[in-house]
Amino acid sequence: MLEAREAVKKLHAYRPPLAGRQGLRLDFNESTIGCSPRVLAQLRSLDAETLARYPEREPLESEVGDFLGLDRAQVLLTNGVDEAIHLLCSTYLEPGDEAIIVVPTFAMYAIFAQAEGARPVQVLSGENFAFPLDRVLSRISERTRLIAVANPNNPTGVAVACDILLQVAEAAPQAAVLVDEAYFEFHGDTILHHAARPSNLFVARTFSKAYGLAGLRLGILAGDSGQMAMVRRSASPYNVNAVALAVLPDALRDQQYVKNYVAEVQHGRGLLERELRTLGLEYWSSRANFVLVRVGPAHTEFVQALRTRGILVRDRNSDPGCEGCVRLTVGCGDHMRTLIDALRGVIETVSKRREVKV
Ligand code: PMP
Repeated sequence: MLEAREAVKKLHAYRPPLAGRQGLRLDFNESTIGCSPRVLAQLRSLDAETLARYPEREPLESEVGDFLGLDRAQVLLTNGVDEAIHLLCSTYLEPGDEAIIVVPTFAMYAIFAQAEGARPVQVLSGENFAFPLDRVLSRISERTRLIAVANPNNPTGVAVACDILLQVAEAAPQAAVLVDEAYFEFHGDTILHHAARPSNLFVARTFSKAYGLAGLRLGILAGDSGQMAMVRRSASPYNVNAVALAVLPDALRDQQYVKNYVAEVQHGRGLLERELRTLGLEYWSSRANFVLVRVGPAHTEFVQALRTRGILVRDRNSDPGCEGCVRLTVGCGDHMRTLIDALRGVIETVSKRREVKV
């Protein structure tokens, strides 16, 4: 009988709660307003010829290289950051290797590492989810072949200074060190232009968040040209579809749209954090387009009560160190005002019901 590999049989199926997402989407850190009108116009102008051809990625990689100030050979376009993680794992991990992952964090690092038969070495964040540099350094071994860090991190929104990440990369020259900058635009700081970037360091970016294109599946992996040549060997030549490639130049050129949205999110994040303080809830100051808040034992009721009011948010209670926590995506001002109004009512009813139950 046909059997899947042992590593795959051991994987838990990862099913993000995508079903029935009706209402204000504050559960997946997507843009709440969608992409630039310029991108939409380009999409509408596509013809049958564009779809009939196999997509050609290279010219767009030059364009992205110019945008990032990198050589074309240092850039690979990917089917979202998800595929970038997958490719790094398949390029560098052998069965039995170790992948250091600072938790809580994005689930796909551990999943793709395990799929290769590697062992995720989970290192718990420090106080207030600070990056645990000493613990990470102490867990590096000869078998460490991947270290993945989201900066800013998801679901905490906490960022780590680039010089700390450089120390990690230098301490593990045998490992691919991925700095996942999926939320870069909201944070503003990047390791990409650091002069002392070692050749084992990779940076990932996405069009899923600030650019409002999560449905298009478009990401960037950047790194040393020699290493990227290896990663490229694992990738399909057609991993990014023709529609995504056709709109990419417009997405890049409409930086004003991205800037405006980022400014709205940063303003909305301030409003939301102020409201959480007023409500007396614990939260972690965020550098991304979401805020993690500790609601306490009523987290399930809280998420449900918001859903009843047409607002979707994400329960993160089962993430390490996140007991009773919920993640709220930050969107444009109007959407944040809707959330804040709902929060006031929901906190009141949830805490009243709790008092009755006790
Ligand atoms: N990295 C992080 C840290 C994320 O939070 C997400 C999305 N939740 C991704 C990567 C996935 O990005 P993409 O849509 O580009 O695959």
